[in-house]
Amino acid sequence: MLHDYPDIRSRIKEEPLWFNQRGVPRYDAFTPELASNIYANEVALLKIACQACRQTFLVGMESSAWSHPLSEHIEALHYGDPPPHECPGAGSTMNCIDLRIIEFWRKDQSCDWIRVPELEVPLED
Ligand SMILES: [Zn+2]
Repeated sequence: MLHDYPDIRSRIKEEPLWFNQRGVPRYDAFTPELASNIYANEVALLKIACQACRQTFLVGMESSAWSHPLSEHIEALHYGDPPPHECPGAGSTMNCIDLRIIEFWRKDQSCDWIRVPELEVPLED
């Protein structure tokens, strides 16, 4: 289960546009530059759904030189529990349904972010 970050959510009344890999709410449109790991070299924006209430969320995932590349297991990407939300079920504690990779970005050799549309695929859940 992810943290609900009440220190952030109580101060910002608008709904987050997306959540990072640890469920931190983000309020600017997703860009790879907003990855939480400054050393990330692959980032993905996923659409997921709560198993219980089917509410959908946009969530970011990332990998770096020190972790397993996202692109090596692209169709098996799994976010885990959805961000905490007002759920009539126990959805915040249940694994999400991974729906689709909306955006996929990779750093090139110049450390510029390049979008990789061939990896923006539906996910098998
Ligand atoms: Zn739910």
